[in-house]
Amino acid sequence: MIKANNPNLKSWVDVLPGSDFPIQNLPFGVFETTFGEKRVCSAIGEYVIDLVELEYLGFLEGLRIDTSVFSREFLNDLMAEGKEKVSELRNRLSEILQDIPGKWNGESKAKQFMVHMKDVDMQMPIKIQDYTDFYSSIEHATNVGTMFRDPDNALLPNWRHLPVGYHGRASSIVVSGTDIHRPKGQMIPADSDQPVYGPCRLLDFELEMGFVIGKKTKLGDTVSTSEAEDYIFGLILFNDWSARDIQKWEYVPLGPFLGKNFASTVSPWVITLEALEPFRVQGPKQEPEVLSYLQYEGQKNYDIHLEVEIKPEDTEGKIVSRSNFKYMYWNMCQQLAHHTVNGCNINVGDLYASGTISGPTPDSYGSMLEISWKGTKPVSMPDGTERKFIQDGDSVIMRGFCEKDGVRIGFGEAEGKVLPTK
Ligand code: CA
Repeated sequence: MIKANNPNLKSWVDVLPGSDFPIQNLPFGVFETTFGEKRVCSAIGEYVIDLVELEYLGFLEGLRIDTSVFSREFLNDLMAEGKEKVSELRNRLSEILQDIPGKWNGESKAKQFMVHMKDVDMQMPIKIQDYTDFYSSIEHATNVGTMFRDPDNALLPNWRHLPVGYHGRASSIVVSGTDIHRPKGQMIPADSDQPVYGPCRLLDFELEMGFVIGKKTKLGDTVSTSEAEDYIFGLILFNDWSARDIQKWEYVPLGPFLGKNFASTVSPWVITLEALEPFRVQGPKQEPEVLSYLQYEGQKNYDIHLEVEIKPEDTEGKIVSRSNFKYMYWNMCQQLAHHTVNGCNINVGDLYASGTISGPTPDSYGSMLEISWKGTKPVSMPDGTERKFIQDGDSVIMRGFCEKDGVRIGFGEAEGKVLPTK
């Protein structure tokens, strides 16, 4: 077992039940200090752990990691130090925060390296180089195929043979807490064959998870399913905002474009693959058998509970979906093996999103398109209003956590509020 993952560990920091950040999590993020400097941090309970300060106080002596990476604006340089050095760092953080009297004398110095989360602004954690979006949930692909094409042939012939994906846009990916303006664009009214221009009317979320690359390859290299985990640093929550009316008119023949690239929201904490180790599960059986380069051994899916809340301005919100990352038909290792099978190189800071994560039942669907079934089944809200899609003033909040042996590893939130068209 990885030392820092031991479910018996206790910290001298009070961690409330239900917290996303017990001592077994120790995620990485970037925060802005009260004097306006961006620094790399970890988290425990309700506190951010300032790694620059920890280093200054001498707590990180003897580690191999280059400590200058803690003063950077993004986690890219820390990730590029490699998994072994980051793992050493995570184990040291665990020791400092454990209840070992006198060893690190943490408690008396805690005020100097811990800051309450309510007093800091979390920043975009990654300088995202390239962003790819997959389409790897069989429930989601089946629902969309049923609605828009043919219920008897919902999946296209390639779907069970390769993880379908497309290249997205990195410039418009924002961190949780960033407002989103309703996009404008071209769409075609239901009763017309002439397109119109205006604000998107069918604004939607897509419940996804993203994985971040911590090790690069050279052009021409391929990454096998068994090597893939060496390249995956960690996971975040990902809301791939989608304008369904714009998307529907533009997507044939080259796929999503302006219906997708206006914004995506990520959570500020990167949860390491190491912290997720205890939550591996077997993925769904793949039929027919996949080609050899997509075959894999072991458990490559993760049991991560996911939920989506819609919260109107000034009134109570409602959880509209509860899904799970374990449902994914294609796992991350297969996605990365497929992405690189042609020699496409990957870089530290690349982001790969899963595609909408729908479960088998309507209350586990990962988009309003599916939840409201193209708008035919509106969702009633606590204030008496209805939602088919997302309205101006609504915030969409995604959350995720794993739980086992009394340990709950959480992801924090990916939250974004929709403002009227700019
Ligand atoms: Ca998507």
